[in-house]
Amino acid sequence: MGSHSLLCLECDLRMEDRLQNRCPRGHDALLRSEYHERNLRVRDLPGMWKFMEWLPCSSPLPTEGEALTYRSEGLAREVGLRNLYISFSGYWPERGGKLLSCSFKELEASSVLGRTRERTDKVLVLASAGNTARAFALLSDKASARVVAVVPRPYLSRIWVPEEKPSNFLLLGVEGGYQEAIQWAERISGLEGTVAEGGARNVGRRDGIGTLLLGAALQMGRLPHHYFQAVGSGVGALAVLEASLRLLAGGLGGRLPRLHLSQNLPFAPMFHAWREGRKRIVPELDLPSPERAEREMYANILSNRSPPYSPRGGVYEALQESGGRMYGVSNREALEAEKLVREAEGIDVDPAASVAVASLLQAIEGGEVREEEVVLLNLSGGGYERVREDFSPLTLEPSMVLGRDTSLEEVEEILKGWGVPAR
Ligand SMILES: *Cc1c(COP(=O)(O)O)cnc(C)c1O
Ligand SMILES: [Zn+2]
Repeated sequence: MGSHSLLCLECDLRMEDRLQNRCPRGHDALLRSEYHERNLRVRDLPGMWKFMEWLPCSSPLPTEGEALTYRSEGLAREVGLRNLYISFSGYWPERGGKLLSCSFKELEASSVLGRTRERTDKVLVLASAGNTARAFALLSDKASARVVAVVPRPYLSRIWVPEEKPSNFLLLGVEGGYQEAIQWAERISGLEGTVAEGGARNVGRRDGIGTLLLGAALQMGRLPHHYFQAVGSGVGALAVLEASLRLLAGGLGGRLPRLHLSQNLPFAPMFHAWREGRKRIVPELDLPSPERAEREMYANILSNRSPPYSPRGGVYEALQESGGRMYGVSNREALEAEKLVREAEGIDVDPAASVAVASLLQAIEGGEVREEEVVLLNLSGGGYERVREDFSPLTLEPSMVLGRDTSLEEVEEILKGWGVPAR
């Protein structure tokens, strides 16, 4: 076995990482990576790759990006916290932020591509509301790995690259919303020569984001008492929990950070289920009109209808285990928070990050956080305006827009033209 193995959280089966995203015994539980290196050993490598020992790949991509952590002054003063740290994932060169795709999806994509290219030549297929696809577009050539991304038509303008058009990246638009994109990605990943990326189920996603917590812990010299993040799937939150567990098992003192996770109303299935004390999302109750909710919400990057909330190792358990809670944030609260953070910290942030900031305000208002406690606030995306000052981003055109009348054969033809399956 390599540097790690995979563990099924239902039956404790340990297995070699062969790029699987599910337990072969059919369990619904998430898999988790178990690294042979129990203590955090920081390698002399650039960016997030310094945490290579706890990534599911053995060689780094030629990139330097990572999430940066700094102690807030402006926002801390505004909200009255003495130990507010910000984790920023995006482009902000003045502070060392070099994630050119402007969100923490780039941490996920880096680790997933590293894991994939060491194990297969097949083409990765994924669905995205924008940020994930943009991250893969940026990295596919650097990883020499091919990627097909299916993105809802309204979000296609989010798929840009700072410089050169990638040759390893195939963009497909789809009529409809995120759900239609997920369905199409599933069908396409059944074609020969392709493999489903797996989203939250892919350990690479979680371990990639986990580097964010590792970097923050190094910077702070400890784990935070509280962690704030906006969630659609919950990958980031699970990643922070898992990375914290690894640090604790490796001997770092302290306890698990309390997870404070937020969703943007009216699209907030996990918030509603959690508030009712349910371990299961009931769509009729928690998300009765998903299409409308997706249209009405501000941070629509968070519009995941079926997040891994209930399975073993999922969001419900993570909230329980960490003593965490969920927040519902209105568009207005998010927009006000966005203005506040821009003025106080001097950077533009992703709408999802604004939702997280708004949840911090709710938490302080509700007495969930004490003034002296150590708080880690995840500004999970940002620097879009800053990127445009240094680059002239190029928006990618879809090779095709999939509609009701499109057949899978047509997509197969496009893939063939692209040399998939490889002959
Ligand atoms: C995807 C995304 C989120 C939500 O992250 P999950 O952990 O997958 O729920 C938050 N912020 C930004 C900027 C994102 O792109
Ligand atoms: Zn199992």
